[in-house]
Amino acid sequence: MAEKITIEELLARNKTVMASHKPEPTFQFLAENQIAVAKTLVVACADPRSDPSYILGLNFGEAGILRNVGGQVKPLLNDILALDNLITFKQVMVIHHTDCGSTHFTNEQVRGVLTQRDPRAAAEMEVESVDFGAVSDLPNSVVRDIKFLKESKLVREELKENIKGYLYDIEKGSLEEISG
Ligand SMILES: [Zn+2]
Repeated sequence: MAEKITIEELLARNKTVMASHKPEPTFQFLAENQIAVAKTLVVACADPRSDPSYILGLNFGEAGILRNVGGQVKPLLNDILALDNLITFKQVMVIHHTDCGSTHFTNEQVRGVLTQRDPRAAAEMEVESVDFGAVSDLPNSVVRDIKFLKESKLVREELKENIKGYLYDIEKGSLEEISG
């Protein structure tokens, strides 16, 4: 793990990237030239060990990817609805993974830390009722997330039929389909 990387070094790398960068097409260009955008949405954990591009061997632009703590759909619902409004996805893959960081803390711990840091701000944020994404029940977290999307009245019915959930094993590199 590259724990000593600095922002300065990353910015220097960007200069290298920029040197050979080719302009990306705009939405207008895609529409005018009837070029299809990626119709697959992948929801996954922000953990570098759970990178969908690597896990699924994605080529550039083959899928839209949303990542957060645990790859949990509930806090991403607004994003999913907004993106689907723009893109009209055909399918969704929700991927959680073994040894997820979200299984190594509890919501109570996060609430405690925030309350200690600034009790007033924590109270204003109503941290006692905030779900910080702690997970205690892999792979049932996948079942819960699929259920959440399928029960949402705002997710398109056509899309609901093509939502699949998986548990990624970080040791084996395998994906196990988790059905509800
Ligand atoms: Zn994770």
